[in-house]
Amino acid sequence: GNVPYSRSETSELLSRRRQVLGSARLSYCDPVHFVAGDGVWLFDQSGQRYLDAYNNVQIVGHGNADVAAAIAGQARTLTTNTRYLHEAVVSLSERLLATMPAEFDRVLLVNSGSEANDIAWRLATALTNREGAIVTEHAYHGITEATTRLSPEDWPAEDQPTHVEAVPPPVDQSNHHGRTADSAELITEALNSLETRDTELAAFLFDPLFTSTGILPPDTEQLRQMVDRVHEAGGLVIADEVQAGFGRTGSNMWGFQAADIVPDIVTMGKPMGNGHPVAAVVTRSNIVSALRDDPGIFSTYGGNPVSSVAALAVLNIIEENQLLEHADAVGKYLQTGLAQLSAEYDLIGEIRRSGLMIGVELVQDTEPWTPATTAATDIVNRLRQHRILIGSTGKHGNILKIRPPLVFKQSHADRLLDALDTVLGSFDDTA
Ligand code: PMP
Repeated sequence: GNVPYSRSETSELLSRRRQVLGSARLSYCDPVHFVAGDGVWLFDQSGQRYLDAYNNVQIVGHGNADVAAAIAGQARTLTTNTRYLHEAVVSLSERLLATMPAEFDRVLLVNSGSEANDIAWRLATALTNREGAIVTEHAYHGITEATTRLSPEDWPAEDQPTHVEAVPPPVDQSNHHGRTADSAELITEALNSLETRDTELAAFLFDPLFTSTGILPPDTEQLRQMVDRVHEAGGLVIADEVQAGFGRTGSNMWGFQAADIVPDIVTMGKPMGNGHPVAAVVTRSNIVSALRDDPGIFSTYGGNPVSSVAALAVLNIIEENQLLEHADAVGKYLQTGLAQLSAEYDLIGEIRRSGLMIGVELVQDTEPWTPATTAATDIVNRLRQHRILIGSTGKHGNILKIRPPLVFKQSHADRLLDALDTVLGSFDDTA
């Protein structure tokens, strides 16, 4: 279509990119140059088609016609700042609240997950008048100053923030990533450590799938006990649904629902606009009122008409196509196929899944547990040669991350499993 730039060759684009964007990370040792997308497919500049088993933003599919029509139509009709009355932002907020437990009655619309978490943290510190946080090991919550300090993934080894404690995620003890003690007990220990630094707990912030720690669907009873312990200590509970939300976990709209807990604040973003930047903080009015004397949390673009219709279109598509059930069914199918591969390849140490978020942990050895980091990077790059996109994650980068758009079908899963079989086979030959 008509684009306001002229296209250059991939190699030239790469060097021009380095000139202006520096070393900002690109996926793959041989970066891909996409020019179009359709459903679960992405097309590179030479017209080659790639199967997308990685991008969690475009949940209803790349180039979704309904989302695109909603955005284009609204952009043509009206784009304003958010200080005027508009139907879309009100409808969107009502629709979001309808997906939440009854306790929730307020929505704040923003533009990114980082911004949502930043505001959630501001609300928690303002309401409690405290400064301390508990997060989970190797978690990621954003790029702002406050959220970087709440993201152990980004902490410099020598300079960890003194107002934050990181605890292991509440996964089964038999899992080497897991707690070595009762999870509620770990919260108590973290509270004690904070206290030695004269810090009281404002909030416990967690991603319900513990995605960047390695995709670790929690032991729900343990998570419930952590939440209870945080509440007993007067802290707020913030569920960061930027990765886990909007049906990623399959059976529920939100990740926290699997554990039957009620957080105080929920943040969301990524897939909310299927690629259009829109994010939200959903909470209770008494929590928002903690900032009432503040200059306010007006955001020029947060919940503007275009973003709001994009998010409304996504909610409609999820509902009309029963994508939650679909995600769970395809996720189960993939898991079964992966389990068959694991019987064949020792490299696969563990498969973990929730809905359509799957972590395949690669190991050199299980006794003792030795992460296969290089193998993971290699497999991701070799799958790229087969024109299939996945990623890797975790502290050791040894966990294959399979997290496709929710419209991924069984036939796509077959294609991924076949390629993975080939790649694992070739890997065994050369390892
Ligand atoms: N929280 C989680 C769990 C995330 O995965 C991310 C993004 N990777 C963020 C927050 C930050 O969102 P954004 O990049 O939209 O600022």
